[in-house]
Amino acid sequence: MSETAAVTAPLTLRDFADIGVATLKGVGPVKAKALHSIGIDTVLDLLSTYPRRWVDRTNEARVADLRVGEEALVLVTVRRVSSRRTRNRRSLVEAVVGDGTGRMQITFFNQPWRERQLTPDLNVALFGKVDEFRGGLQMTNPIVDLIGDRTGRIVPIYPQSEKAQINTWEIAAWVEEALRRSAPRGISDPVPASIRERHDLVGRGEALHDIHLPDAMAVKHRARRRLAFDELLRVQLVLVRRKREIEANSVGISHHVEGELVRRFHTALPYELTGAQRRVIGEIAADLVSTQPMHRLLQGDVGSGKTVVALTALLAAVQTGAQGALMAPTEVLAEQHFAGVRALVEGLRVPADNLFGERQLRVELLTNRVTGAARKELLADLASGEIDIVIGTHALIQGAVGFHRLGVVVVDEQHRFGVEQRAALRDKAGAAVPDVLVMTATPIPRTAAMTVYGDLDVSVLDELPPGRTPIKTSIASAPLEVEGAWADVREEVAAGRQAYVVCPLIEESEKLEVASAVETYEELQGGHLYGLRLGLLHGRMASADKDDVMGQFRRGELDVLVATTVIEVGVDVPNATVMVILDAERFGIAQLHQLRGRVGRGAAESRCWLLSTPDEDGTISARVEAIKSTTDGFELAEIDLHLRGEGTIMNSAQKGRSDLRLASLRHDEELIRLAREAAFEIVDADPDLSGHPELADELELLFTEQDAEFLASS
Ligand code: ADP
Ligand code: MG
Repeated sequence: MSETAAVTAPLTLRDFADIGVATLKGVGPVKAKALHSIGIDTVLDLLSTYPRRWVDRTNEARVADLRVGEEALVLVTVRRVSSRRTRNRRSLVEAVVGDGTGRMQITFFNQPWRERQLTPDLNVALFGKVDEFRGGLQMTNPIVDLIGDRTGRIVPIYPQSEKAQINTWEIAAWVEEALRRSAPRGISDPVPASIRERHDLVGRGEALHDIHLPDAMAVKHRARRRLAFDELLRVQLVLVRRKREIEANSVGISHHVEGELVRRFHTALPYELTGAQRRVIGEIAADLVSTQPMHRLLQGDVGSGKTVVALTALLAAVQTGAQGALMAPTEVLAEQHFAGVRALVEGLRVPADNLFGERQLRVELLTNRVTGAARKELLADLASGEIDIVIGTHALIQGAVGFHRLGVVVVDEQHRFGVEQRAALRDKAGAAVPDVLVMTATPIPRTAAMTVYGDLDVSVLDELPPGRTPIKTSIASAPLEVEGAWADVREEVAAGRQAYVVCPLIEESEKLEVASAVETYEELQGGHLYGLRLGLLHGRMASADKDDVMGQFRRGELDVLVATTVIEVGVDVPNATVMVILDAERFGIAQLHQLRGRVGRGAAESRCWLLSTPDEDGTISARVEAIKSTTDGFELAEIDLHLRGEGTIMNSAQKGRSDLRLASLRHDEELIRLAREAAFEIVDADPDLSGHPELADELELLFTEQDAEFLASS
């Protein structure tokens, strides 16, 4: 490119990043410093500071249209302003504002600086609730946006910083100037035209203009869609490149998915697979056949039947002549999995070089409780390949455990299976990298998973096996309601059923939690549940004691199991039909959902009681209300995401440039999918992005090394 071409070429994000805000009219040292304090140093920072609202002048309520009791937005001019102190020494600023149609009073408590801010003749947008005051209209402590004397039909309103003393109209003016000065060269668009056309995306220049200065409300939607797509595309490009890189550098095993063992296993099941199970098994089979190592996330709500799916994958490894490993986060869970898997594969035979041509499938449990000679033998049999499937904790892939030929690893995991673990696996595997399936019962929206879980492929079991009766959930807070919950437990037990009581969660200390569980157990035994057979289960008990208690409960020798969250996952006793959760507001949504999933596992109707104390103003925790409102794990995951706020997806404590400013993991499901598809299309045709230098440059500009690491380490 010749030098003259370079200076007339359309402007890139890099160009904008190289221009400081001080080059803009009206940005002197004082304003530059103020802008710096809110993270705006360059024209790129400025242009990606998007309006948080837009006011349509022709469409907003006029003062004459305001109705008492409603929230409204009005554009008005300040007529006069005054301030005084109330009798109890609070500051009170009052202003009279109006438009061509009428007047209104606005009142600010404890905001003395409003008197200086709201000078007569100033144009402001006010947002607030309209009350009546001395026969006229009034707003108290409304949101105020100074819009200056900006003309145009639609006024952008930027995030304001009172502290930095920057007004929305100042930002608007600088943005407008930056866009005006960019117009002769135009703004470059790094996204291939074919992708833009296919997904109906407007050009980047148009989008940047229209998000800041739309001439109709409709165009700003298109603008937002395009710019949000760009944010998501960049994230996906990082993830997809990393995924392809890992794939290119590792050779996996091509498993036999059409084999006798899996067929026998499916035929022997006492039920038909659900449609979702069949679909997901198909997705996994496609990965297993391929020589590229699988790295897939299996999401499925509590009770959706993940075990059968996981076992299918493990058996595929076995019928290929390799081994399978199932890893659980704790020993208790590993033991439970072992019991469950054993029952499912009972009687399954694998082809063998012996007189009968067959032998029994061998499944073993390896935890820290297996010691001495037994452990030695187990390790030897694993190394020689005599064990087909081994179940244990993460310790399985650490330390001295050697496999004969590890083919499939299933990770049952609420937490993240990170790069370190993956690296450990690769080391274990030697030449061929095993296929990895990560299971989670904490559903997160599918598209959020694509972003949050980085380079995993995602499968979803979105259908529960038939024959479940929905769980009825009630909140009990008043003493009478609490009485009702305990009466319900006694009735169910009288009818031959069983119950769980979940003790208060004490996050700070397991010791305190155990103490409170013991206390709860004793109280119930002498009180509400007097005369019933109670068992106690908590995390500080020896494994053998836990097994004892669980065994008694499973066999129906206990009526009620009083437990801490150790029963959160994996416990499966279909005869248990009631659960009472104490101090439910202490738990998170995902946790409550998992806990509740312990009941409702049989055909009988089940109930879940959430005992919860309202807060000072009498309201029940939103999380508890959410659990009552639905049993759909995906819906709850959405609510959870919403209640917690999305936060940033990046590592950096400080909001970085690479963060999603417009795109939302919750609302932009379709866009995330499109961006992911586009990223695959681009990367698969051009792995090192040499044919897309501008995109590559944007990744370099906007993602710190740390961000990229973080994204990839999920
Ligand atoms: P998850 O691990 O996803 O919570 P599980 O694999 O433990 O679920 O299965 C929950 C229950 O549903 C188990 O009792 C299991 O036997 C049963 N189940 C699984 N798949 C089916 C199916 N297709 N039809 C009927 N019951 C099923
Ligand atoms: Mg399970």
